[in-house]
Amino acid sequence: MPSQTVALPAPEPVALRVFAWTVFPVVLTATLGGALWTIARGVEPAVAVLPFLIGGYAVIAGLERVVPLHRSWLHSQGDLAADIGLAAGNGLLNRLAEPALLAACAAAGLALSERIGVTLWPGHWPLVAQLPLALAVAELVEYWVHRSMHERDWLWRFHAVHHSAPRLYWLNAARFHPVDLALVGTGKMLPLALLGCGPACLALVVLFSAIHGAFQHSNLPLRLGPLNWVFSMAELHRWHHSPRAEEANHNYGGNLILWDVVFGTRWLPADREPPEAIGIETLPAFPMGLWALLASPFQWARVRAQAAGPEAAGVGRRPANSGA
Ligand SMILES: [Zn+2]
Ligand SMILES: [Zn+2]
Repeated sequence: MPSQTVALPAPEPVALRVFAWTVFPVVLTATLGGALWTIARGVEPAVAVLPFLIGGYAVIAGLERVVPLHRSWLHSQGDLAADIGLAAGNGLLNRLAEPALLAACAAAGLALSERIGVTLWPGHWPLVAQLPLALAVAELVEYWVHRSMHERDWLWRFHAVHHSAPRLYWLNAARFHPVDLALVGTGKMLPLALLGCGPACLALVVLFSAIHGAFQHSNLPLRLGPLNWVFSMAELHRWHHSPRAEEANHNYGGNLILWDVVFGTRWLPADREPPEAIGIETLPAFPMGLWALLASPFQWARVRAQAAGPEAAGVGRRPANSGA
């Protein structure tokens, strides 16, 4: 009898393996370190983080062209114009609304601290120690806001814009409906301001979230190993973008996977890779244009009917985000 041969996957080149293990920690450390150094020299924190944020984005976007995880994710699938529009619009909204909101909360937090006679935030700690604490606090709120968006229909309508992405690349980190971004951003940043977290620490949270988010959605071959128990990075987040709800309704963490571990929603199968074909299984023909995406939560019945298609109608994502 002829013996059967089993095709084994080709081994990864050593340089690619080294890249996959090191690029995220190296870029994150370099950008945070650069921002800390600049802040220590007396530069306004919100200004100090900007060059490192833009530089980090440029490095990640450039590396995707050189070492993409999937070549099919390199090219627009009708999504690029909308992603640019959402990134620009959301960035502008952030610039306009965030300073006033944060200042109002900081004032409220200060008044509260004076009233109870206790300083709520350990502002005397070094910034490198304040940052993990700030991330953990912010992530607790973000976890439940994000999870609610998957489990409450009226919130899923807004969050579906993010999950309708047909591919993953760095700019997906900004592909959010403005209402989604406002809810997550507000839920995440305002408790910190209310607790008295200072502007330098807040600016570092913004920088960390931006660099982490771009890597999290990047089209890069990343490996974190045990750090997948710390960060909510690409290997975990690609499962969150699976078209199948039973796979996607996991790994809600924005930066950290901490609260997914605590609440039992961390998921990283060891026997297979996340799917290359992503999107929403029950809404495969989701609108792609910028204005159609912005309007989609307000025209949900029509969007659902058009996006589902006849064969998908009646297939439930899960009760809350079935598109019903
Ligand atoms: Zn989600
Ligand atoms: Zn995502």
